[in-house]
Amino acid sequence: MSNFNQESVLSVHHWTDTLFSFTTTRDPSFRFRNGEFTMIGLKVGEKPLLRAYSVASANYEDRLEFFSIKVPDGPLTSRLQHLEEGDEIIVSRKATGTLVIDNLRDGRNLYLVGTGTGLAPFLSVIKDPETYERFEKVVLLHGCRRVAELAYGEMITEKLPNDELIGEVVRNQLIYYPTVTRDPFRNRGRITDLITSGKLFRDAGLAPLEPEHDRVMICGSPALLRDTKALLIGNGFAEGNHGEPGHFVIEKAFAEG
Ligand SMILES: Cc1cc2nc3c(=O)[nH]c(=O)nc-3n(C[C@H](O)[C@H](O)[C@H](O)COP(=O)(O)OP(=O)(O)OC[C@H]3O[C@@H](n4cnc5c(N)ncnc54)[C@H](O)[C@@H]3O)c2cc1C
Repeated sequence: MSNFNQESVLSVHHWTDTLFSFTTTRDPSFRFRNGEFTMIGLKVGEKPLLRAYSVASANYEDRLEFFSIKVPDGPLTSRLQHLEEGDEIIVSRKATGTLVIDNLRDGRNLYLVGTGTGLAPFLSVIKDPETYERFEKVVLLHGCRRVAELAYGEMITEKLPNDELIGEVVRNQLIYYPTVTRDPFRNRGRITDLITSGKLFRDAGLAPLEPEHDRVMICGSPALLRDTKALLIGNGFAEGNHGEPGHFVIEKAFAEG
């Protein structure tokens, strides 16, 4: 049996000239945990051209969703950005990754820290009812350069709170905190600076981070991972992974070129 399924594109949405999202059919045999990534791609000639992508939809939904960058000369995304409804894409039958709540010890607050397309795995985690059973407050931080890059803001603030399955827990437990570095906006600055200065906690009405009660998942550029990890370790947090749950888990949103 092939290690890949062929799926059809159901919809495409362009957020900016560098970011887009698309949904596809989902083979019922494809199983994943919320927060995981898989390999997706296109056939180029006879060969599959594949890249790692976080699944942005939740594991109980019957469509798959992906949130993608458009890299100008990127082998995959220079092609993928032209996807249209009805096109076929290849999706691996396996998913994996560290950004799953099972890799975290029990705690009170869950912080989801994503920059750019690093938001994608958390779109899945914030739709998972179990996230709200395990944690009292779920704080979703999305950092971008420009306001236009804060994709999914309306889905998070308008659609999810009215969702039949999870609307009530989202209304009571989810705090969405978008921030930008290069445009005027209500929240400004890098996520690590907002943590260090304490502004994030004052704005969210929560106590500053401490390992006894807080858990953190991080997905972003290699620089964001390095800085946030150093900050957390400096505050007594321990990194978790499969088999050994910790206070925080990290995953690259992309590999450095
Ligand atoms: C675990 C994991 C999960 C990933 N999940 C996603 C996802 O959900 N959405 C997504 O768009 N990409 C994701 N990526 C990146 C993805 O695998 C590809 O790199 C991306 O699709 C570009 O492919 P490409 O062939 O066009 O260019 P590549 O040759 O793969 O990349 C060229 C260069 O572009 C830059 N770049 C690549 N991806 C990004 C990005 N997402 N944001 C900013 N700069 C980037 C890097 O500097 C990279 O060296 C993930 C990567 C990893 C390792």
